[in-house]
Amino acid sequence: MKKPRVALFIFIDAFGWEVYQRNRFFLDGLVQDSKRLETILGYSSACDPSIISGLLPSEHRMWSSFYYSPSTCPYRWLRHLRWLPDSFFSRGRVRYWMSKWIKKLHGFTGYFMIYSVPFKVLPYFDYSEKRSIWREGLVRGTTLFNRLDRQGIPYYVHASGTSDEARFAALRDDLRRGAIDFAYLSLGRLDALMHKIGNSGPPVSELLRDYDRQIRDTLATAEAAYEQVSWYVFTDHGMHNTTGRYDLIADVEKLGLVYGTDYVAFYDATMGRFWTLTDKARAALPRLLASHPQGRLLSDEELRELGVFFDDRLYGDLIFLMNSAVQLVPSYMGSAQMPGIHGFHPHDPDSYASILSNRPLPDSLKRIHEIYGLMERELPGLDSPAART
Ligand SMILES: [Zn+2]
Repeated sequence: MKKPRVALFIFIDAFGWEVYQRNRFFLDGLVQDSKRLETILGYSSACDPSIISGLLPSEHRMWSSFYYSPSTCPYRWLRHLRWLPDSFFSRGRVRYWMSKWIKKLHGFTGYFMIYSVPFKVLPYFDYSEKRSIWREGLVRGTTLFNRLDRQGIPYYVHASGTSDEARFAALRDDLRRGAIDFAYLSLGRLDALMHKIGNSGPPVSELLRDYDRQIRDTLATAEAAYEQVSWYVFTDHGMHNTTGRYDLIADVEKLGLVYGTDYVAFYDATMGRFWTLTDKARAALPRLLASHPQGRLLSDEELRELGVFFDDRLYGDLIFLMNSAVQLVPSYMGSAQMPGIHGFHPHDPDSYASILSNRPLPDSLKRIHEIYGLMERELPGLDSPAART
């Protein structure tokens, strides 16, 4: 006998609205409703927690991965390695294994990567995603999975470190057995591909054709085992093709301020975030950044509107956002310009996210963290969110 109902939430990383418009074959004939959604300024480290909690980064307090906090930095002992030559730490393999090693040593269960953060400055920063947001939860607030766990509602969520194919196979297996009421499947290959080649071209369409096939198969599997199948295919952000690069670090270093004494900075791929520690830095940095031709300082008011304002300036006293499509190179996330990146202003066409479904989408759905309300709507047995703080 068939089970009554299942809801499938399928997340395709970087499947932005513009990417969907160029590939309208995708799930053609099955989509009943689709919408363009505003993303959240930042990266997956901000977007994923927002989608699974319904909260904005200013509420759940997870925005970028790294924030200035030398007193709580778990891997402060790295400063004892500063005598080792920079050339040793700049090797990709060394950084990969160091990330794995630190993660294991400190029992981090979340996604942890030191990217290209210079070794000498790592001890200034704590890391926001030390725990698995999927299995454990957020810094603040409750995730949908916390609520499902509490009520013992059976669900599928992808396991970290597994391939898209393995994830589809595991989900289909659960569906075949009628073992779950809800699924959240996250797919990462499209994001990785578009970082390498940009946001359009035959390989992008080919990958989407593959996802199209896999999703159709998965829906057929679900329909064989359940009376009612609701599905949503969605994402957290789009993808820009880069048109240029700019070395902001060089400009900041020309100011003659001392890193660690006057200021501390973290350079994401599209943002520079600065903590000012002396009056000298409080004067010099805004002077440089407020009139900089390659980007702009975001006002508190704008940060508030975007849901990423923090009273305690957790993620920086000054937030500088690069002009669209210009990548900060080098940055602490990488030393080379990439054909595709995301993390520019949410109101750029290429920043917008998308959602497609076989159910009508409410008019009130505007930003990606509101996908949470759809997940609640699909789980009628879920208790009221009393524990949401
Ligand atoms: Zn990405």
